[in-house]
Amino acid sequence: MKTAILWFRNDLRLYDNPALKAALDAAEEIVPVYVIDDRYLEKDRWGFVRTGPYRLQFLLESLTDLKDHLQEKGANLLIKRGTPEVILPELAREYQAGAIFAAKEYAHEEIKMEKALADNHDLRLFHSSPLVHPDDVPFAVDKTPDVFTAFRKKVEKYAEIRPAIPTPGTVVTPGLPDTPVPTYSDLGMEKVPADERGVLAFKGGAVAGDDRLDHYLWGSDAVATYKETRNGLIGADYSTKFSPWLANGSMSPRTIYHELERYEQEVTKNKSTYWVKFELLWRDYFKYVTMKYGRKIFFPGGIQDKSVSWRNNDKQFGKWQNGETGDDFVDANMRELKKTGFMSNRGRQNVASYLVHQLKQDWRKGAAWFESQLIDYDVCSNYGNWMYAGGVGNDPRDRVFNTKKQANQYDKDGAYRKLWL
Ligand SMILES: Cc1cc2nc3c(=O)[nH]c(=O)nc-3n(C[C@H](O)[C@H](O)[C@H](O)COP(=O)(O)OP(=O)(O)OC[C@H]3O[C@@H](n4cnc5c(N)ncnc54)[C@H](O)[C@@H]3O)c2cc1C
Repeated sequence: MKTAILWFRNDLRLYDNPALKAALDAAEEIVPVYVIDDRYLEKDRWGFVRTGPYRLQFLLESLTDLKDHLQEKGANLLIKRGTPEVILPELAREYQAGAIFAAKEYAHEEIKMEKALADNHDLRLFHSSPLVHPDDVPFAVDKTPDVFTAFRKKVEKYAEIRPAIPTPGTVVTPGLPDTPVPTYSDLGMEKVPADERGVLAFKGGAVAGDDRLDHYLWGSDAVATYKETRNGLIGADYSTKFSPWLANGSMSPRTIYHELERYEQEVTKNKSTYWVKFELLWRDYFKYVTMKYGRKIFFPGGIQDKSVSWRNNDKQFGKWQNGETGDDFVDANMRELKKTGFMSNRGRQNVASYLVHQLKQDWRKGAAWFESQLIDYDVCSNYGNWMYAGGVGNDPRDRVFNTKKQANQYDKDGAYRKLWL
C-alpha cells in the first residue's frame, strides 16, 4: 500500500504503538492525524462540559509532545477539528489512502464511530491500551468473569505480557501542511490557574510520562513502599500518578510493567512492586467488563440490570459537587477535584459512596461530573468504578463507606481536610 492514515486516539505515543507499527509495515508513507472531536467539548445531558479544563490542557500538551516527536522523525501531525467519521474519509480521499489504522476503543460511542468508518473504509484496529492483549486471555471476552479476583487469577496464571514495541526510526509522510496545536481560546475554553495544593503539576505528553515513571521507580524508590502509602491523600508520591498519561495513552501499561520487572530484578521485589501490577489489572478489568457488557455500563441499573429509582435533587447534587455537604472529608475531596482535576482513589471511593448511599442520587450524574473534571478520565475505569460504588456493577456486596470512620483512619491528624477546607 502506498499511503495509510494513522488515526491517533488514546494512544498518544510513538513507542509501543501497535497501530503505528502496523501502518508503517503496511504502507510506504503514513498520514498521522488527531481529530479534536467537537462532541467531547460539548455539554452532556446533565449540563457538564464533557472535557473540562484540566484534561483539555493535558491533552493539548500531549498533542504538542506527540507532534514534536513526529517532527523529530521527519514527519508531522495533522490536527483537525470536527468528527472523525467525517474528517477521516475526506483525508483518505485527499491522500488516496488504502487504509486507516487506529487504536481500538471499547465503549459504545467510540465503537459507533468505528462502525461508521468501517462501513466504507478499510479500518484496521489494534489493542493499544490494555496491559493484557485480548487474544492472550484464557477466556472469550464475552465470558470475562464477573468478579475481579477470578479475572485476575486467570490472567496472572495464563497470560504473558507482550514486549513493548520499539519507537520507529523514521516515519515517512507525504507533504503535510503544518496544523498547529490549538490554544484554549481557539477551542472556546478558559485556562484555569494551577492550584499549588495539587498533588502534582501534571504535564501532558510522553516525555513527562517517562519522567514520572523514572522518578517513581528509579529516582525515589517510592514504588517499593506503594502498598503502604497508596491510600494517602497529600503529595506526589503516595501513589504512582500514572493515570492521566495512561488515560490518553502517552504512557503504555506494558512499558510500565516491564520497567517494574526490571526494577524487581535490579533493586527489590516485594508486595508493593506487585501491587502496582495488581492495580494495572483493575484498569484492564474495567476494559474487559466494557467489552463484555457494552452500553450497559451507562444504564441506571448497570450491568446487573438492577431496578433502582435514583433521586435527582439538583440542590443536593450541587452541594456535593462544590464540596459543601457539611461532611468535611467528602467536601475536602470534592474541592480538590474541582481545583485540580485529581482526587486520590481513597477520596473517589468515599465521595462516590456518599453521593449514592447518603444522598441517594443517580450515580451516572456523579460519573458525568467526574468525566468533566478528571484529568485522568477513562471511560471504562470511571463508569466501571462508579457502577461498583452504585451497587450496580461488579461488586457482589453493596459496600457503603462510613466517611467519618474513613476520615479518622486515613486523615487522622486532619491535615488533608485542613489543606482543602
Ligand atoms: C468513583 C471512581 C472513579 C474513578 N475514575 C477513574 C478514571 O476515570 N480514570 C482512571 O484512570 N481511574 C479512575 N478511578 C480509579 C483510581 O481512583 C485511579 O486510577 C487512581 O486514583 C489514579 O491515581 P494513581 O495513578 O496514582 O493510581 P495508583 O494507585 O498508583 O495505581 C496505579 C494505576 O492502576 C490503575 N488503577 C488503580 N486503581 C484503579 C481502579 N480502582 N480502577 C481502575 N484502574 C485503577 C490506574 O491506571 C493507576 O494509574 C476511579 C475510581 C473511583 C472509585
